[in-house]
Amino acid sequence: MKSICIDPGHGGKDPGAPGPDGLKEADVTLAVGLLVAAYLDATGINAVLTRKTAAVPWSQATEGDDLQARCDIANRAKTDMFLSIHCNSLDDPSAHGSESYCYAFGGKGQSLAGFVLVPVAAALSITNRGVKAANFEVLRNTDMPAALIEMAFISNPAEEKLLGDPAVQSKLAVAITEGICSYFNVQFTEICHRFDCPNRI
Ligand SMILES: [Zn+2]
Repeated sequence: MKSICIDPGHGGKDPGAPGPDGLKEADVTLAVGLLVAAYLDATGINAVLTRKTAAVPWSQATEGDDLQARCDIANRAKTDMFLSIHCNSLDDPSAHGSESYCYAFGGKGQSLAGFVLVPVAAALSITNRGVKAANFEVLRNTDMPAALIEMAFISNPAEEKLLGDPAVQSKLAVAITEGICSYFNVQFTEICHRFDCPNRI
């Protein structure tokens, strides 16, 4: 059985980036991550979540502990892939669009980052800022190919509205699931119809 560790970014005492209207990144990543896990279950891909509630199941004494704990969950479960879900944030409120990250170009992490990014940017009809390489701990310390998606900018008022809308969160989850299925070469269309997905494919 194919498997992936889904990591809803932040949580517990770390709310993540705030939106100008008060939306918390940690709440968005959890809502989307839980839906992705549910959709994946129906496709026969096993999803292991790093957290299932607003709290986190590890100590958050330091930021290093927090990120390593996420890697440890994936490494212990020995999943085939790892995907961390986030919202982007910059001081410039006009920054917009979706982007994704892998540890280094040329590997499976880059393919997963690309497969997930395209449907996410399309689902929101926002700019695709491309796949980037970054030395993020969750990408470096996971034993399996790993990617991180920054769905949209929570610091951008228009994109904050999108990210906070439950209907859009479902669309994002469908898009991420579609990307994961494309990576694993698993049929997703039928599942999508069964779930009455908001952006049926
Ligand atoms: Zn984040």
